[in-house]
Amino acid sequence: MRVYVMTDLEGVSGVWSIEEQCVPSGREYDLARRLLTAEVNAAVEGLLAAGATEIVVADGHGAGGLYFPDLHPEAVALMGRPVPPAWALDEDFDAFLMIGQHAMAGTERGILDHTLSSQSIVHVWLNGERIGEMGLNAAVAGHFGVPTILLSGDDVACEEAQDLLSPLGPIETVAVKQSLTRGCGLCLAPARAQELIRDAATRALQRLSEFQPYQPEPPLELKFEYLLNTPAEQAARRPGVERVDERTVVYRGDDFVQLYCYR
Ligand SMILES: [Zn+2]
Repeated sequence: MRVYVMTDLEGVSGVWSIEEQCVPSGREYDLARRLLTAEVNAAVEGLLAAGATEIVVADGHGAGGLYFPDLHPEAVALMGRPVPPAWALDEDFDAFLMIGQHAMAGTERGILDHTLSSQSIVHVWLNGERIGEMGLNAAVAGHFGVPTILLSGDDVACEEAQDLLSPLGPIETVAVKQSLTRGCGLCLAPARAQELIRDAATRALQRLSEFQPYQPEPPLELKFEYLLNTPAEQAARRPGVERVDERTVVYRGDDFVQLYCYR
């Protein structure tokens, strides 16, 4: 059984600051990366216990989130930039997980909420509904027929995952911190967070047959609202991309990976 684990840094227990923890100049950047990697390793252990034979871990944080020397020996990591389209996901994987995920931009209370980039993107919509990074990731996996079975992050991110994905199957979510404000929350001790992730990963993979891939109904309409005009201007140069206002563009088509990963 081949499993793909997408990671991000903002949703890890103990992570609450971009400046201190999520960029290389941050005082606690290495600490945050080690905390993420320990959560990932816990997921790997849980997956192995449920019969996973190959586990690919993708470093999904812009500046890099995995602390490579600590990676579990049974996993391999997709690291570096630029990443291949669709993050090298394909139909040969059986399950998809997200560790360290944050809520979408504009979510009340969500710790470090954003969608792809807090510097440039205000909101993203898919077929008229606001969608966050987790939804976009789940749709990439879904494109290849791979179901999302587990997500960890703060309680707000977990709620977003349940709203989006639980209609397709009983997704496992692990709230490793309870969000109080965008930059503050009650964080589980690392050992506790890891224990919960390990157990949830085992449970989720054991129930794999109960999950369905997330495959939004075509025709698809993917809309980006940028903070400034420039990215919209640039995006609208591509044939078939409609600029709906100064800062907003719409991509239309039937193939999600074409729309999202090749934009
Ligand atoms: Zn990130």
